[in-house]
Amino acid sequence: MITVNDTVRWEELLPHQFETRLSAAPVVYLPLGLCEPHGHAAAFGLDTVKAVWLCEQAARRYGGIVAPTQGYQIHETGYHAPWLAAVMGKVNPRLGGVPPDVLLRMLLFQLRAFANAGFRTLVLVTGHHGNQADLRLVAEEFTRTCPVQVVAVSDPELVRGRHHGDHAGRYELSQLMYIRPDLVDLDRVPDRATSPLGRFAQGDDAADASADYGRRILEDSLNELGRRILATGTDEHSPPPLTIDATEEIWLRIVARQSQWRTLSDQDPDLAESTR
Ligand SMILES: [Zn+2]
Repeated sequence: MITVNDTVRWEELLPHQFETRLSAAPVVYLPLGLCEPHGHAAAFGLDTVKAVWLCEQAARRYGGIVAPTQGYQIHETGYHAPWLAAVMGKVNPRLGGVPPDVLLRMLLFQLRAFANAGFRTLVLVTGHHGNQADLRLVAEEFTRTCPVQVVAVSDPELVRGRHHGDHAGRYELSQLMYIRPDLVDLDRVPDRATSPLGRFAQGDDAADASADYGRRILEDSLNELGRRILATGTDEHSPPPLTIDATEEIWLRIVARQSQWRTLSDQDPDLAESTR
């Protein structure tokens, strides 16, 4: 006998399952990832795996539905460019990067799709830290036209003050070891010294990663994500569907603020945020 799945993923839900989950909690999650170098011991998709896991666990715990993810994010512009040169040298990063106007315009129309599908709280979780200010700028302009709640956050922001985020070091590899131990091989950490790929953006403390530390980070992340979702409250009012033309007007407002797009700036977002 075939049993019906208990998935929380939009693309795997049957219509009656979607309706049940939507009416119980009109919350949608968009996990945003990136294929990016994460040293020699971890898979390229670390950021995506983290974001998907957090969204799926949050949907099971706090209700809601997880929208299809994407393994592409903003890279190579602004502060990203010198960072990439510093951690990669001249080695091909095998990167899934796109410029900000491509991702932010797509994001705007994703928000429209979510609102029109009946969701009232839209949760964006990026496993790639640094772009979240621009995701929030898009959300801010969207909610000026469409009255939904948006939570937009990078995973290190969820544990700020408890754990120190990093790139491909103990913080990130520990999480991947807990979620997908088959995607981590700590025996590869020393390759940094001998491989023609060089450092390959590996963190200095990658060898200290452990699944147990990853579990603790992820548990703290989930608790904070839940706190932020529950703080949005529930609004029963459903706005009329947003047209493509009306969404294009929102895009013009976002483009008018291009001088504020963080991903076009050479200002390091971590330095800027730590001074807040
Ligand atoms: Zn990462």
